[in-house]
Amino acid sequence: MNVLILGSGVIGTTMAYYLARAGHEVTVVDRQPGPALETSYANAGEVSPGYSAPWAGPGVPVKAIKWMLMHHSPLVIKPMLDPAMWRWGLAMLRNCTEARYRVNKSRMVRLAEYSRDCLKQLRADTGIAYDERSQGTLQLFRTQKQLDAVGKDVEILKEYGVPYQVLEGDAYLEYEPALALVKHKFVGALRLPGDETGDCFKFTNNLAAMAEALGVKFKFGVNIRGLEQDGSRITGVHTDTGVLSADKYVLALGSYSPLLLKPIGIDIPVYPVKGFSITVPITDAAMAPESTIMDESHKVAVTRLGDNIRVGGTAQLSGYDLRLNASRRATLDFVVTDLFPKGGDVSKAEFWTGLRPMTPDGTPVIGETRYDNLMLSTGHGTLGWTMAAGTGRVMADLVSGRRPEISMEGLTVARYG
Ligand SMILES: Cc1cc2nc3c(=O)[nH]c(=O)nc-3n(C[C@H](O)[C@H](O)[C@H](O)COP(=O)(O)OP(=O)(O)OC[C@H]3O[C@@H](n4cnc5c(N)ncnc54)[C@H](O)[C@@H]3O)c2cc1C
Repeated sequence: MNVLILGSGVIGTTMAYYLARAGHEVTVVDRQPGPALETSYANAGEVSPGYSAPWAGPGVPVKAIKWMLMHHSPLVIKPMLDPAMWRWGLAMLRNCTEARYRVNKSRMVRLAEYSRDCLKQLRADTGIAYDERSQGTLQLFRTQKQLDAVGKDVEILKEYGVPYQVLEGDAYLEYEPALALVKHKFVGALRLPGDETGDCFKFTNNLAAMAEALGVKFKFGVNIRGLEQDGSRITGVHTDTGVLSADKYVLALGSYSPLLLKPIGIDIPVYPVKGFSITVPITDAAMAPESTIMDESHKVAVTRLGDNIRVGGTAQLSGYDLRLNASRRATLDFVVTDLFPKGGDVSKAEFWTGLRPMTPDGTPVIGETRYDNLMLSTGHGTLGWTMAAGTGRVMADLVSGRRPEISMEGLTVARYG
């Protein structure tokens, strides 16, 4: 079958690989000159099924107010006259109940755990390299209150069978020895040994090369302007270089997905949640992180990726604005210097921003639509890297008319009515 994938971020490219392996003729279109040059470019690098949870949860509205008032705040809202933002915010608030949290989390964990298994299999099948490490992640607590509150997270981890270790005092130094210099700042940690890390940009580009070898055609530098439909089917995709057509279309345009879907009558609550990262060259490997550390106070992740430290975080609601804010960078500089004062050279860091394609319930929107030949694969929010391999595999099964290995309950656009 002839399949046209719209978007070559980590989601579109991973789907292209699995679809080609399933025997389809695949074309991928993207406006950028190569794969993974928008949100998949410099994320925090965590492949973290253990942290798969929606941002909307009980108590979050109160915490959000506290976060916004903090110095080095993890949450910034720029009030705007943007109805989509307010609609999305209200929908998120409605998801902040215990009951909704449980439903949403169970859907996310289902896809993320499957994705971890698919990624392992993909590594075994292809030998793909992307500065990957399988050394777990560490959530560091600066206060006793944070450490005491870990019980609630642990209950959930137990419920979903996610392996974990609560590390009191400085027991975490066994896994992150460079923190010895600053151990007086922390009271303990939660370790998730099953989580992995890796460079999403390298992964996507290396997988794109493998997909190309399987026959996938990438059309870069092509702007998609709109989808054409005849009531029940998509008949073509308008681009600035002409109309493209295929038997099936899969839309994976990250945060821009709702803009192309609205004109054809599909309304998905995906909103851009801006995040920032710095990539710091390592100056002393023994003083740098081994894997990922999540600083719970600032909600900033610090990850070892090859010869660099990637530091990522912040949630900013400000529409599609891609400006780099100096104050957000100051927070990332502060956290990495506070944790690893001798690890890297912050003055030489690359500063970046990306728009997480977030749904209010945290769960991505994947699978069928009311158009016979259009599928969606978007809304992966904070966990697109974590969920990419599983998403690619599920979508290849669906396009091929096979039943995916995990249930699609609650993952499709149908859940929004
Ligand atoms: C600071 C930060 C840290 C993060 N950390 C992590 C992490 O540690 N772990 C994790 O799992 N996830 C993380 N994420 C989330 C993850 O990066 C995203 O979920 C993921 O990159 C989304 O991939 P995507 O392919 O859906 O979107 P994108 O990578 O944005 O791909 C969409 C593609 O569509 C193309 N496109 C859009 N509109 C058009 C158009 N009109 N015409 C042509 N092409 C178009 C774009 O060029 C782009 O290439 C983080 C995100 C941020 C911002």
